Amino acid sequence: MKTITIEGLIKNNRISTQDLLQEIQEKINEGYTNFEINACGQHDIGGSSWAKDPNESLTFKITNPGQRVGAMARKGTKIYVNGSTPADVGWLNSGAEIIVNGDCGDTAAHCAASGHIYVSGRVGTRSGALMKYDPKFPVPEFWVLKNTGSYSFEFMSGGIAVVCGFDCSDIESVLGKRACVGMVGGTIYFRGNVKDIASCVEIKELSQEDIDFLTAGMDKFLSAIDKRGLKDTLLNFNEWKKITPLPPDKKINKISVSDFHKNDWIEGGIFGDFIDDDYKVYPLATTGEGRLQEPIWDSSKCINCKLCINNCPQNAIKEDYSIDENKCIGCAFCATVCPKNAWEMKNNKKEIS
Ligand code: SF4
Ligand code: SF4
Repeated sequence: MKTITIEGLIKNNRISTQDLLQEIQEKINEGYTNFEINACGQHDIGGSSWAKDPNESLTFKITNPGQRVGAMARKGTKIYVNGSTPADVGWLNSGAEIIVNGDCGDTAAHCAASGHIYVSGRVGTRSGALMKYDPKFPVPEFWVLKNTGSYSFEFMSGGIAVVCGFDCSDIESVLGKRACVGMVGGTIYFRGNVKDIASCVEIKELSQEDIDFLTAGMDKFLSAIDKRGLKDTLLNFNEWKKITPLPPDKKINKISVSDFHKNDWIEGGIFGDFIDDDYKVYPLATTGEGRLQEPIWDSSKCINCKLCINNCPQNAIKEDYSIDENKCIGCAFCATVCPKNAWEMKNNKKEIS
């Protein structure tokens, strides 16, 4: 394994992010796989650097990074940050293991799609937002030793988050305020108090399967952040619960996007202080022949759970699972929520005369 140290500050001159990333890539091309980066706030370290051979592993040990450490990092990349990090750690993580030995800024694990993100401290506002799961890849995991800021796990649609609530006994909510707004998939395990959770989710007791998952995962997490001594404290399962989205039939009545903006998301609507919104919703996506992709249903896989029907934003799926082409916009929500992969999205790129 060839190792190299790269400095982000040379003779008191800060190297630009672009130059630093280019230098890393040049060294990868020369065969280096193990990097120590003494950064000076440069962005995107670790994630944007890919080995030529996709099977080759890259390791980054980073101090003093800027935003988006490990953003879009792929499988085989291992990133260790010695100290705290600013926003967007592991943004759209695509398979890397990212360990932060400190706190993270806002939007940690934002859009994470695979891999593991381990944090030994706290994470900021909107962390875990838009986490997702694509069955083609291993499920993303996001482990936090302490707590999250507000609006955490907003619009989460898949993946697993574990918020251990360590050193948080005096905190009102280990998930901050208004967690889980718009959450439609995934699981959040948490330990400690929570308050002011969105109405689209429910808090449940752990099953044996959950306990087995946490027991196995906790070992790996605590080893990664070098806190094995906390194992007994954190594996007291009387102190844990989990959050999952409400099943469609238990959800409150569907509300319009404008009512959601006005009443459910943030009072006054997002950016309500700054813009004059007429709260009308204008159609932008194409239906019918112009759709970029078309859902194809496989009846042999379907278990008739109706998740696709209840989550289709266009009400395009009929009771017999045929598609109303004049409503369908090819958004693939049906394929994303289906637990049995019964929908295949067929590329529909044909010329429209
Ligand atoms: S692709 Fe989107 S609009 Fe079309 S049926 Fe599936 S969920 Fe509905
Ligand atoms: S979500 Fe999948 S399994 Fe459930 S009804 Fe739809 S196609 Fe069938």
